[in-house]
Amino acid sequence: MYIDSHCHINFPELAARMPEVLAKMADNKVTHALCVSVDLPDFPQVLALAHQYPHIYASVGVHPDYEDTPEPSVEQLVQLADDPKILAIGETGLDYYRLEGDLEWQRERFRTHIKASRITRKPLIIHTRSASEDTIRIMREEGAGTDAGGVAGVMHCFTESLEVAQAAIEMGFYISFSGIVTFKSAKELQAVALALPLERILIETDSPYLAPVPYRGKMNEPGYVAHVAEYIAQLKGVPVEEVAAQTSANFRKLFSVPA
Ligand SMILES: [Zn+2]
Ligand SMILES: [Zn+2]
Repeated sequence: MYIDSHCHINFPELAARMPEVLAKMADNKVTHALCVSVDLPDFPQVLALAHQYPHIYASVGVHPDYEDTPEPSVEQLVQLADDPKILAIGETGLDYYRLEGDLEWQRERFRTHIKASRITRKPLIIHTRSASEDTIRIMREEGAGTDAGGVAGVMHCFTESLEVAQAAIEMGFYISFSGIVTFKSAKELQAVALALPLERILIETDSPYLAPVPYRGKMNEPGYVAHVAEYIAQLKGVPVEEVAAQTSANFRKLFSVPA
């Protein structure tokens, strides 16, 4: 029994084949998936999926890579998050890899999401790429972590160093691994996954992107999260059932979802 903690099944390539996507989840014992919002225009579709399917959850947020899109206010995020199927605020964060120039707007948008998380008491889904120093600094400044009265969240599709992971964990965050951890070239990331306790790890697909081995390069989908779990189990030398059970328990604890 696996849970995909981060996917984008509302994106057209997956939404167009929803029955097949849901069937593969069932075949692979993926019981639940969290469909993550990336901008406000897409949000109604994300929420509709969560309302249509009991085992699909949703989040609300505006991704740091979406520059020309309506900017959310704290009040707007708080209002949109007011639904039992909305588990989290995000995805939000910083991405200095995809975009260049003055990215102060990204940092402001990130602060807006952290404020909304503190008000709604819903955890953050944080995306960080080539920006870990500013990400951790702003998380601290805005009180994102449980250590500062926030509700923490998850560092999704994690590709940073062990130091960054530990700084986030100290603030109460979980670290989520995607199919990237299964890639042959990802030696440093595999060392991070090996060093972290299973109690702080989530698994995800980030589908339709980043399909794990043996599907690398193909379209990803939530059913494939089982391969991420299998890889982590192998890496840590524990039964895959243990990784499945612990990462599912972590998901339920973080997002307050009863079993
Ligand atoms: Zn992301
Ligand atoms: Zn994503």
